[in-house]
This record gives sequence, C-alpha cells and structure tokens, in this order.
Amino acid sequence: MKSQTDLEQMLRSIDHRGYPAYKDLRGSYQFVGYVLGIDHVQGDPFAAPSRLSVRVGKAQAGFAPEMYEKEHKRVALSDHLLRVFGRTLADYTFQAKGSGKSGLIGVSRPGQEILARTACEIQNGDVLVRFEVGFPANGRTINAGELHKILFDYIPQAVKRSLFYKNLRAEEVKAVLELAEDEQAVREALFEKGLVAFVANGAILPRESGVSQKPMKNAVAFTSPKEFEVELTLPHRGAVKGMGIPSGITLIVGGGYHGKSTLLKALEQGVYNHIAKDGRELVITRDDAVKVRAEDGRAVKHVNISPFISDLPNGKDTVDFSTEDASGSTSQAANVVEAIRAGAKLLLIDEDTCATNFMVRDELMQQVVSPEKEPITPFLLQARELYEKYGVSVILVAGSSGAYFHISDRVIQMDNYKTLDITARVKECMEGEPPLEKLSLSKTPIGAIFGDEVKKRMVKVGRLEKKYDEVKVKQFGKDSFSFGRDNVDLSFVEQLLDSEQTTTLSYCLKALAEKLEKAPQDIEALVEELDKQIRREGLASLCKGSYLPATLAAVRKQEIYACVNRYRGLI
Ligand code: ADP
Ligand code: MG
Repeated sequence: MKSQTDLEQMLRSIDHRGYPAYKDLRGSYQFVGYVLGIDHVQGDPFAAPSRLSVRVGKAQAGFAPEMYEKEHKRVALSDHLLRVFGRTLADYTFQAKGSGKSGLIGVSRPGQEILARTACEIQNGDVLVRFEVGFPANGRTINAGELHKILFDYIPQAVKRSLFYKNLRAEEVKAVLELAEDEQAVREALFEKGLVAFVANGAILPRESGVSQKPMKNAVAFTSPKEFEVELTLPHRGAVKGMGIPSGITLIVGGGYHGKSTLLKALEQGVYNHIAKDGRELVITRDDAVKVRAEDGRAVKHVNISPFISDLPNGKDTVDFSTEDASGSTSQAANVVEAIRAGAKLLLIDEDTCATNFMVRDELMQQVVSPEKEPITPFLLQARELYEKYGVSVILVAGSSGAYFHISDRVIQMDNYKTLDITARVKECMEGEPPLEKLSLSKTPIGAIFGDEVKKRMVKVGRLEKKYDEVKVKQFGKDSFSFGRDNVDLSFVEQLLDSEQTTTLSYCLKALAEKLEKAPQDIEALVEELDKQIRREGLASLCKGSYLPATLAAVRKQEIYACVNRYRGLI
C-alpha cells in the first residue's frame, strides 16, 4: 500500500495540470491510524464529487466487541459515529475553494431514525466511513494545494475526533448503546406479550412541522389509558409503562384535530428505532407493519384482489388483476393484498387517506344499489377473518364511521391528545344494533390471497429500451426515481423515510430487473432471496462496481416489495 507521503508527492506532481490527472490518485493510502481510500475520482469539477473512504483498524478505533457484536448495537453505534463525523466535517465543506463542486465535503445526514448505512459501517471492529469530496480546481486546472488541505488537515482532524473511541465522549456512546438495548428489549417484549405496538407514557408524538421531523415543543405527552397500560422492564431504564396494543382489530376514534393521525404516524415510524430526544424512542411497532392507503393512478401487476373486488363492469379479471391506472378502491385493495403478501402482520390505516368505498358501504346504499351491481367488498367485511384465520392485525383511524365498531376488539378515543379506552361504552351502544349486513360479501374468501393455492406472481421486465446494464437510473429525492423510461413513484409509500432508502431501492430494482429481463419469474421468490442476500452480505452486495456509494440506507423487505410492485416496466 502507498503511504501518505506518496500521496503528497503525487499531489505536487499533478498540480496545475488538467483535471483528468486527478484520476491518478485512485488507490489506498496509509495514514497515521487509518487507511484513506480514493475510490472514485470525478471526471471534472462540475461532475458528481469523488468518493472517498476511511478505514480505521480495530485496534486504533478501540471499540469493545460488546459494543458492536449484536446487530442493533452495531447499527446504533455506526449511526452515532456517522453523526459525529458528519458534524465535524460540516465545518469544513467549501473551506477549500475553486470552481464547480471544488471543496465540497458531503457526508450522509441521517434523520431521526437509526438505519444501517453504507456511509458508516463497523466491520469486525474496524470503522469504515464513506463520503464525497469535490476535488478542487481553478477552471479545469487542478488545484492540488486546496486538496492537500482537505486530505491532510480537515479529514485527519475529523477522523481523529470522531472515529477513535478514546476521543469520543464515553457517556454519549454509552447512552447510545443503552438506548439501542432498551429499544431492542421493547421489540422482543412485543412478541412475548402478544402486542403489535407499544407507546411509552411520556412519549412526544407530534412533530415540529410538516417539514421538520424534530419533536414539537410544548406538546402534550402521551399517556396510556389505564386499561391498556403495560409495564415493561428494560435493561437500562428499568420499569417503563405505556400503552400496549394487543393483536386484533384496534380502532382509534375521536373528533377532528384530536391527534389520531399523529398517533398512527408515530406507530408507522415505530418500525424503526429513533435517536435520543426524538420523543418516540420508546414508540415501537412490530417491524413488519405496513401503512396502507389509497393510491389512485398507480400501476398494478398480477395481483389477486378478488376478495375485495370482483365483477368489474369492464369484465376485467380481478384474480389476476393488472392495470396501468388503478382507481382509489382498486389501488387500496392491491396495497392491502401486496402488504400481506410482503409479510405484514399489522396493517395501519388512516381514514384520511382511504378510498371510502373500499372501507365501508352503509346499509342504505346496500339496499339501494343491489349487491350484484357492486363490485367492491369493503375491507370491513374481510378484516375479521383476516385476523382470525391469518393473524393479520389492524390499527385503524376512523373518526367518521361507526361501522367498524361491529368488528373491533377495542376502541381508543383521542380526546385533546389524551387517550381513553371506550371499548365498554361502544359495546353498550352496539347492544340491540342489528348485526353487520354482509350483502355485498365477495364469493372469494380472503384466504384466496394466501398459501400455495395462490398462483405464483410471474412477472417479467417488458420494455427495457437499452441493454439491462446500460439502463439509466436517476433519482428525484425521496419520492421517486426513473429506471430507463419508467418513473417509479414511491411518494405514497409512507414508511419510506429517507432518500438514501430510495437509492437502495433503485439498486434493488436494478438487481431484480437483471433477473427478470429474460423470462417471467416468481417475483416474491426473487424479493425474498434479495432481502436475505442483503441481510447476509450487507448493502454492499447490491453493488457490483468497484466502489460502493456512500448513500445507501437499509430498507425493509416490505419497501422492496412496494418498489417493484410500483414499477411499470413489469408485464
Ligand atoms: P386528527 O387526525 O385527529 O384530525 P392530527 O393527528 O392530525 O388530528 O392532529 C391535529 C394537530 O394537532 C396537528 O397539527 C398535530 O401536530 C397536533 N398534535 C397532535 N398531537 C399532539 C399533542 N400530543 N400535543 C400537541 N399537539 C398535537
Ligand atoms: Mg387525521
């Protein structure tokens, strides 16, 4: 391996030359205490910045094995190191000057969630960070002196301050690891106690604003209704009380503006752990939970929505349903079926984002429009069987229709951001009410979407205009990316929280498209296999190139499904 002195020499020799001479710097260099990798060099000062990495060896990094052996602690520690590293380097971005992206230092900026990221990994005790640097130039002429500042001053300082245990605040590291253990303990407790979610008393659920995920100041802290209060014993915080939501069908009701959607949103995001002071550290939802909603206009490919929709007026098949432009109800039916097929044992539904005709059909309407004329079996009529036979729970925000009282196991009312258990009162009101009319129940039972009797979902990539490996991928923030000529719109995949997750999904789609290019294949088998591969070999296994992007964040299997299911190139 080359030394840092070699690098200094090379820098001197290429100074004032044309920009492409920077390419000679590619390689690894031994610095004091770490190895600097110049993994990819940009072609000109205006192109995407160069990719660098730093690997601090286990001995120098100095983290004890018990800090990183278990996955949840390793991810939390990497996340912490990345935040410290990023904060330190942020002061130095554009301190080195020049044209175009000269002097840019780009380090991944995690939000409130804790996710595994390629920007910082701990591998058997080694600490590895990946980031971007705009190599400085005047016009298109190399300014090696400015790059020298970055490589020999800024980066060494940031590495020293943030990636060596001895230079970190020990109590901060300890707090991060303890929180990770407590959050993990809550996840395990959910399964032991048959709960689908836990919301600790004192949690702060609302966010500062629509554009800030920071906790709202002066918010009303969460308190559980006594009836649903459970006490968990966590390894560090000790006894913690909060609302334990058991499996089954749970309704959240209440007047408008009383905090229903805010509670549901917190539950949606509870599939991930959060950083300290977020307010939702101990809001934990089973990690296969999926938010489902209506999504007019989405494409659907080969989904069996027949338990919900049958006999469409145009005679369209709903056992093997495809469309380029789904309606509110068909899109929501597809979203429900796809979520369940993706392994969700908890569906989260908010009436604010539902197709009303998918959710309920009142009696008067059932009488007026004869059942034979109505293709939709509302979710109301299938949800009970879905839970009882197949163990899929539901948490549903329903402020305007009492129909779900018929099938709910419990009802929580939000009243001025306070929770009340009104299950008993609802039961009382329901006495003497006629039973749920099931006139428009589909002939296909909900069970049709499960098990081996389901026809395998065979799909193929239909129309790549270029050879697979030349297909262009371009990302537009968190919400979408284009793959060849198709745009994959993920803006309604609400549990996707970070644009780095979207980047990961674009790599996933690329990997899947390669397999689907030749012949139709069972898409579920492929997604399961890809998910296992990522778990086993890490996000790195998604990239075949010589360097790994610094901007991949972990995704759940459920989001991989959501992404391929929305890709219009499938046939
Ligand atoms: P709903 O779905 O019941 O109509 P929302 O959840 O949308 O109500 O909440 C309405 C407003 O109240 C939002 O602006 C939200 O930020 C705020 N809010 C929600 N929960 C709290 C709370 N615990 N303390 C203070 N404000 C809250
Ligand atoms: Mg609402």
